[in-house]
Amino acid sequence: MNKRGYIAIAVIVLLAAAAVAYFGFLRQPAGPSASTKGKILVALDAGHGGKDPGATSGDYTEKAINFAIVKKIQSLLASDPQIRTITTRSVDVFVPLEERIRIAQDGGASIYVSVHVNSFTQSDVSGVETWVDTTRKDSDPSWTLAAMLQDALSLSTGARNRGIRTQESYLQRTSMPAVTVEVGYITNPSERTQLLDGLYQDKIAAGVVTGIRQFLAWRVTNPPASSATPATTPTKATAPSTTKTTTPATSTTKTTPTSAKPKP
Ligand SMILES: [Zn+2]
Repeated sequence: MNKRGYIAIAVIVLLAAAAVAYFGFLRQPAGPSASTKGKILVALDAGHGGKDPGATSGDYTEKAINFAIVKKIQSLLASDPQIRTITTRSVDVFVPLEERIRIAQDGGASIYVSVHVNSFTQSDVSGVETWVDTTRKDSDPSWTLAAMLQDALSLSTGARNRGIRTQESYLQRTSMPAVTVEVGYITNPSERTQLLDGLYQDKIAAGVVTGIRQFLAWRVTNPPASSATPATTPTKATAPSTTKTTTPATSTTKTTPTSAKPKP
């Protein structure tokens, strides 16, 4: 083939590539992509990371166990047509607590589940716990999420059920239901062996996924107060003081059916 022939072929190839790119662009849906539209967003947080190892035992670190479990949860939920996930860290990096919350909030997550491993000075202590910020109201759905996660987690792992615990934490700064699951004690020798075992991590992940699915099913008949009262618009917040007789949003949450708050 002569030089002119090569140029002609090159021009045809370039035109074909341009056409494919152009019509491919036209097929792009507007707004949210078809793969994410309508899906519920679940924020998954692998506790600690980077310079912050969390609890340790010898060379074993909590941050690595948390990360492995979150990866398994994420992979189990990937096949769910109703759910998509967002993680607060995708590598071994330190992420401040405020940043973790911001990622979930900005992403529009419906729930926030933080995964941690526990430690204690006495090595005989073992089992699973779920933590809720102590300032959450009795009507806050975080309690329901915690109850479902705790039950599912203790059932799937067979670990000692240490119940739901409360303390004041950074999780009070989320508008979405938020909990921390403490999936076991790294300071208990036999539980540490299990926490490092991939098959046991699978059981933990399966339990968390069951709890998340149960909560999202419950949520269908118990929607957030904000979606139940669409009349409350952001513009009211900037309106003159004459609107102060408007019922505060907080009072509407009291009408939400109260979940069973655990006994101390
Ligand atoms: Zn931790």
